[in-house]
Amino acid sequence: MRWLWVLFAVCLLNVQALDVGEAKTSPRPYLPTITHSRVLGSVSFRLPVLLYHYVREIPDDDPLGASLSITPLNFRRQLNFLLENGYTPVSIKTLVRALDGSETLPPRPIILTFDDSTADFAQTVFPLLSAYGIPAVVFVVTGFVGTPNYLSWSEIRKISRSPLISIGSHGLNHVSFTQLPDPIADRQILLSRNILAATTNQPIDSLAYPNGAFNQRTTTSVNQAGYDVAFTARRGVVHASDRRFELPRIRPGGSVDSLDQALTPP
Ligand SMILES: [Zn+2]
Repeated sequence: MRWLWVLFAVCLLNVQALDVGEAKTSPRPYLPTITHSRVLGSVSFRLPVLLYHYVREIPDDDPLGASLSITPLNFRRQLNFLLENGYTPVSIKTLVRALDGSETLPPRPIILTFDDSTADFAQTVFPLLSAYGIPAVVFVVTGFVGTPNYLSWSEIRKISRSPLISIGSHGLNHVSFTQLPDPIADRQILLSRNILAATTNQPIDSLAYPNGAFNQRTTTSVNQAGYDVAFTARRGVVHASDRRFELPRIRPGGSVDSLDQALTPP
């Protein structure tokens, strides 16, 4: 019988050694695992997701920049319009739970997203959203952080501590993932998430494709990197749980009229 006890003890030691080995190499809890995936469901609902860039005075000498800008005054008017018309701004977490079928959306839900992580978010947008108590998502280009006209890491850390603000990824350098060799695109998708998670000490659950460019391969890569949802620049307001990595958005334009028009079903 004694050999049986010896065998048992050896097995136990091996298991303990294995456990220690795994513990040493386990990622921190908020970091994604490459094997992440989920069972796809069939939930769908209407939820306009607004796609903002700059909130600033309109530049005279930059037509592209001007088309991506709304003045602070008109942005505030748009916020008032949304609240006066019964819209309920919700967070990305609420969207994810609604796609999972575990949360019922409030009446007239809406999400505000801000692409490119430009400096005006901290200076102009964040104080306004905080005053109104409106949640929003900032999609950060990690390679642009700290360069002129973009948010700094300390600003990102500060805004991420607000319960209203979610930080999402917008890639490493704003190059379209579909233009990159597959391994480089995969690395951008995963590395940008890891950098942002480590900076904010929070899980990074969403991504906006740089330039709105995506294909079947990039959506698979985003899923495997551990994101819960990803946004395109494709126009639309209906989201389906089996297409959670190609969610559409709408552009609110630079005035209350343009926002009203964007929100009006065709
Ligand atoms: Zn962008």
